[in-house]
Amino acid sequence: MEPELKEIFTQVKNLLLAHQEMGLEPPRISRRALKFLDRGPVGRKEAAPRPDRIESLEALRDHVGDCTRCKLARTRTHLVFGEGSERARLVFVGEGPGREEDLVGKPFVGEAGRLLSRIIENGMGLTREEVYICNVVKCRPPGNRDPEREEIEACLPFLKAQLRIIRPEAICVLGRVAGQGLLGEDFRVGPARGEWHSFEGIPLMPTYHPAYLLRNASAKRQVWEDVKKIMALLGLEVKKNG
Ligand code: SF4
Repeated sequence: MEPELKEIFTQVKNLLLAHQEMGLEPPRISRRALKFLDRGPVGRKEAAPRPDRIESLEALRDHVGDCTRCKLARTRTHLVFGEGSERARLVFVGEGPGREEDLVGKPFVGEAGRLLSRIIENGMGLTREEVYICNVVKCRPPGNRDPEREEIEACLPFLKAQLRIIRPEAICVLGRVAGQGLLGEDFRVGPARGEWHSFEGIPLMPTYHPAYLLRNASAKRQVWEDVKKIMALLGLEVKKNG
């Protein structure tokens, strides 16, 4: 088979499997083709358990393995699964790994990540180890472009499984792409931020991505307002000079 055709075939199959794992109706394809899906993702020898049936982050990480469900697998250095406490009361969800994250395999370690750390540590009085930090897509989009729709759809079952395992008291989505992943295509940060939303019954607060704050310092005040609402929900004390 031509390499390009094989690549397309692999991605279509893995996308269909991701839909199946999200509990969506199977597409209108022949019984024979549907049966073929039961053989598991291309590149893996055995059918793996569905991510929504996995009960720990460690088992989920094993399940994700060296995922090749979308084309971001071809250009990544490291798959950036996420980091923090499995019992976190708060989960931050960003868009996807950037250059530095891709190199070290950890989320939010670049300049934007250092700003997020300051929000967590200096603003909220928590540590990065107490919260959980992850992204909508686990592999870096080349050149830091936005992840494409099919890449988000292929990766979303992993994020949803992370949130179901942790079951935090609050989720903070950072930026438009993360918000669209969990709340739908119509999501925009500007009108949505500052108000509580819900993801599968978990209160969700959208706010600006730290990378946006690096370019638009005036938005820091709005982010701090959003963070204070999260702190109030978690019963954390807001310092007077915060
Ligand atoms: S972005 Fe997600 S779906 Fe795509 S290869 Fe990486 S882990 Fe797999």
